[in-house]
Amino acid sequence: MTSLDDIPVTQLKGVGSALADKLAKLGIHSIQDLLFHLPYRYEDRTRIVPMGSLRIGDVAVVEGEVMKTDLVMGRRRSLQVTLRDDTGFLVLRFFHFNAAQKNQLSDGARVRCFGEVRPGRAGFEFYHPEYQVNPPRMPPANEATLTPVYPLTEGIQQPRVRGLCQQALGYLDRYPIKDWLPQALLADYQLPGITEAVRMVHSPPAGAPVHLLLEGRHPAQQRLVMEELLAHQLSLLQVREQIQAREALPLLPAGDRVARFLEQLPFRLTGAQRHVMTDIRQDLSQPVPMLRLVQGDVGSGKTVVAALSALQAIEAGAQVALMAPTEILAEQHYQNFRSWLEPLGISLTWLSGKVKGKARQEALAAVAEGRAQIAIGTHALFQDEVVFHRLALVIVDEQHRFGVHQRLALRDKGVGGRLAPHQLIMTATPIPRTLAMSAYADLDTSVIDELPPGRKPIETIVLPETRRNDIVERVRNACQQGRQAYWVCTLIEESEALQCQAAEVTAQELAERLPDLSVGLVHGRLKARDKARMMEQFKDGELDLLVATTVIEVGVDVPNASLIIIENPERLGLAQLHQLRGRVGRGEQASFCVLMYHPPLSSNGKARLQALRDSQDGFFIAEKDLEIRGPGEVLGTRQTGLMQFRLADFERDKGWIEPVREMAPALMKEPGLVTALIRRWLGEKIRYGDV
Ligand code: ADP
Ligand code: MG
Repeated sequence: MTSLDDIPVTQLKGVGSALADKLAKLGIHSIQDLLFHLPYRYEDRTRIVPMGSLRIGDVAVVEGEVMKTDLVMGRRRSLQVTLRDDTGFLVLRFFHFNAAQKNQLSDGARVRCFGEVRPGRAGFEFYHPEYQVNPPRMPPANEATLTPVYPLTEGIQQPRVRGLCQQALGYLDRYPIKDWLPQALLADYQLPGITEAVRMVHSPPAGAPVHLLLEGRHPAQQRLVMEELLAHQLSLLQVREQIQAREALPLLPAGDRVARFLEQLPFRLTGAQRHVMTDIRQDLSQPVPMLRLVQGDVGSGKTVVAALSALQAIEAGAQVALMAPTEILAEQHYQNFRSWLEPLGISLTWLSGKVKGKARQEALAAVAEGRAQIAIGTHALFQDEVVFHRLALVIVDEQHRFGVHQRLALRDKGVGGRLAPHQLIMTATPIPRTLAMSAYADLDTSVIDELPPGRKPIETIVLPETRRNDIVERVRNACQQGRQAYWVCTLIEESEALQCQAAEVTAQELAERLPDLSVGLVHGRLKARDKARMMEQFKDGELDLLVATTVIEVGVDVPNASLIIIENPERLGLAQLHQLRGRVGRGEQASFCVLMYHPPLSSNGKARLQALRDSQDGFFIAEKDLEIRGPGEVLGTRQTGLMQFRLADFERDKGWIEPVREMAPALMKEPGLVTALIRRWLGEKIRYGDV
């Protein structure tokens, strides 16, 4: 039987090749695609909104009496009609109008209109609203439904999409949509079938529960939300299957180097570090590629876990790659790992994009011939020209942005392109449980839920920029007592150049004001060598104060630094601030973090900085960040489309995460279901590879 997926949109009236091309840009090819092009909100024409409760961006019906009508000359001539109801007033503005309209909209006339609220010279305004003079009583039966609003693309207008979706609905009687979800499941959750759900969301009938629909909580919407979340879950489980369909080298612990390494450490592992190592050791000994995410709050000691994992692989005769997101962090790991591993007779190679010429040839050869047992660097490690001899473990540090595609691509980097390497991903940010369950469904998770003993809490202080002098004094005092400090410059501008410039200016100013201190500077535009030297000097205590951009956000570890000043913290996410703050509080002495904001602070901004002041629990802070900024921002994946949904809203729908995760493994086994649901919901947006 023909399915709606086989019927091209060109079957619809009014869809020629030009429009079909535009629809293709939205990923719409078939009638079914169109039916899954879902409204993301509704316009509510079923009730009149009091003017006093309007907010910018609201799309609403209002009704009132004309107070006055003016012809405004200005840059563009316009007709300005001021409307009033019992609660407030609103201006209607027309740039094109005729005499009849002007007469109609005269003082005292009753007008009902529909438009979008914008800020204007004279208060809130509607531009060119749809309007009706002397309207009938509300609600007229035929209008008592919600009007769907669809995502658009260049050159397609809202009414056009609406019309097409209405036409497409006409096909449903003859060609119902295949419902892939088991009846029993739908019954359990009291959800409607797919065809009914699709019909409801595109065209809610008069009398449908308006509030539920506006909030996205109608059972029809929830049915679709659940299916969408399920499709995402299945796509990740499929990635996991695709990776684990390959074999891996089992890395069995051998030799005594792990024990020797532990002996030379100046501390004992925490219980949490030991637990996580047990998980990892177990995974590595299997002939199946490990896919493990290690989460641990700032300072919980992930680096040692990375080193121990690397050692186990090397002891088993394999090669290891350790990747870090920034040059500074990778360099720091390189130094650490050298001091830990070289005494054990292990050879290391450094590789970043900035290693050029002969040094690069040499590094590539060492990796290819297996002379380098561990290669440390930035993402340059995984360029095509880098060929490993016997790569069996990849460690990705502080890089939760490392995406699904990259994890999938790593499959082919192992021995002979056949044996996939084990993968260990360590996150920079604690990830709330619900988010981890959905965004990292392809990974097993271990949590280092304990800090090394003896850590003192960091005292966080929120001060306005007007207290700059006092703050500079504070830096002077701390450094005179032998402590070290960071001064972090942030700017709202995305431009890296401007950020670096601001850091340069600040460093200069601070050096002048603090002539007794030695002040260093690191930012993204410095040469790798200079950056490394600067970090080295800071680490060795030759610099008292390090002025930096957010390049020091993750991973940098200088235990003697006990004071960090963060400029304009109101512009950063909570998780990022938590990371920055985590640069201090790594040693014995009491540490401080000063959040130097630029007044005035919005009430939301105030609340956010307070949350940070009151808590040092990365998981708690991440939950807050998730509530405030959504999953894309928290994961740093807004651009990649991961965790971007058509209908689901992470906050509203998080109740589905757990059930979806539970039902997914059984559904993975249903023939056809996985491919169909992924195609239906993720379409072409995400192609993970061979299905
Ligand atoms: P993160 O998890 O933020 O990457 P690091 O690995 O940089 O943390 O460790 C933070 C600091 O704690 C480092 O100076 C490290 O040497 C130290 N450290 C790690 N594990 C322990 C431990 N078990 N006991 C004491 N100090 C530790
Ligand atoms: Mg780290």
